[in-house]
Amino acid sequence: MNINSGNSPHKHSKRAVIIGGSIAGLTCGLALLKIGWDVQIFEATEGELEQRGAGIITHQALFDVLKHIGVSTEQDIGVSIVTRKTFSRAGKITDTLNLPQIATSWGRMYQLLRRHFPDNRYQQNKVLHTFYQQTNKVVANFTDGSTATADLLVAADGIRSTIRNQLEPKAQPEYAGYIAWRGLIDEQNLSKQEQQELFPYFTFCLPEGEQVLTYPIAGKQHQVGVGKRRYNVVWYRPAAKETTLQDLLTDSEGNNNGESIAPDKVRPEIIQQMRGDAERLLSPQHLNLIKKLDKPFIQPIYDLTTTRMVHQQVVLIGDAAFTARPHLGVGITKAAEDAFALAGALGAHNDLHVALQQFEAQRQHRGRAWVDNSRELGAYLQAQLKSEKERHFASLHRTTEAVMRETASPFV
Ligand SMILES: Cc1cc2nc3c(=O)[nH]c(=O)nc-3n(C[C@H](O)[C@H](O)[C@H](O)COP(=O)(O)OP(=O)(O)OC[C@H]3O[C@@H](n4cnc5c(N)ncnc54)[C@H](O)[C@@H]3O)c2cc1C
Repeated sequence: MNINSGNSPHKHSKRAVIIGGSIAGLTCGLALLKIGWDVQIFEATEGELEQRGAGIITHQALFDVLKHIGVSTEQDIGVSIVTRKTFSRAGKITDTLNLPQIATSWGRMYQLLRRHFPDNRYQQNKVLHTFYQQTNKVVANFTDGSTATADLLVAADGIRSTIRNQLEPKAQPEYAGYIAWRGLIDEQNLSKQEQQELFPYFTFCLPEGEQVLTYPIAGKQHQVGVGKRRYNVVWYRPAAKETTLQDLLTDSEGNNNGESIAPDKVRPEIIQQMRGDAERLLSPQHLNLIKKLDKPFIQPIYDLTTTRMVHQQVVLIGDAAFTARPHLGVGITKAAEDAFALAGALGAHNDLHVALQQFEAQRQHRGRAWVDNSRELGAYLQAQLKSEKERHFASLHRTTEAVMRETASPFV
């Protein structure tokens, strides 16, 4: 059940319009309700978001934010992992490392936040088109012709943010030079041996210039009971922008799908070729996992930085402001921290502009640091290393020990 009452802001409370009802938007909405703001979230997608997405890594900082905004995570939040293992091409374990953490699914996290957020404040099928600012107010225009007016407009609309495009059009997602093949396997579809040897672990296989990683996550209906979970498989591979990437993004009809390609449009021969490469490059254990992926999908890796998070009465949070490559696994945590810091600053200062400056001073540096750090970690996967600096980081972070310790580290 969603909470539809008990969160009624004061009659004269300040109003925030949040664009984007994913992790950043929902955590921000909940945090602002908590300090007495009047909040509306507008989400472009129609219908269920919950079943989309795959694996995510959690951090203590995320749980701290959730606790502060009243979201209980004690039960069944995800799957606990203690040990990391790296397998050689021959299938031998070459390294192990104990690094306890909890992995879950994007859907589980979304469901948890959505359940706590009042239905009457969350509108779907509402696509922001443009906005304009006047003294002390901001007006959002939607593609259906409707408008919403607020004291504050929060851009939680992700890496391809419409709001950011209007404010800082030069800040565009940057292709990293590699893609990830991704997919999920139901726990039940793993053999007994795989269930024992692989499933409880965060595993790696590291062919030259590539990286496979796997870990258990919550199941289809967000279940975390034995037999109901899923295994998340990710294989990072270099893909030059003008050649390999274009080929991967071209469907059977010969159409290039632009920045990404829907799973059911990936050409069968591309999948076949990837499986052939797995025979050549991966451990027998990881090869079998790749064979078991029902619908492997391609995720081109992008990142993004901005020069400002605050533009008068508009604030950018989550992926709209900074998107780090996935190696750190901080996407969800960063979004939640942005939201919490914003509510903290707004709660502490009556003057909106002072509060927003405080927020920016707190979060701008952090967002930038995470993007830089994830670029260093991913440098050795890039199709081309353009600079001396990239080559330096590639050599620094490509050792098995570094990959195991730094990838999705629980310490952020
Ligand atoms: C369906 C889905 C599945 C995901 N799965 C994973 C995953 O498995 N693993 C992982 O690490 N990360 C995943 N992510 C990304 C992850 O949520 C983000 O990296 C991170 O949590 C920051 O979230 P965000 O809310 O800033 O951005 P996002 O999660 O990208 O959310 C942006 C939201 O804004 C909405 N939006 C965009 N433009 C407009 C507009 N003009 N008007 C109104 N709404 C708009 C989008 O529909 C989206 O819901 C997923 C995101 C989505 C939307």
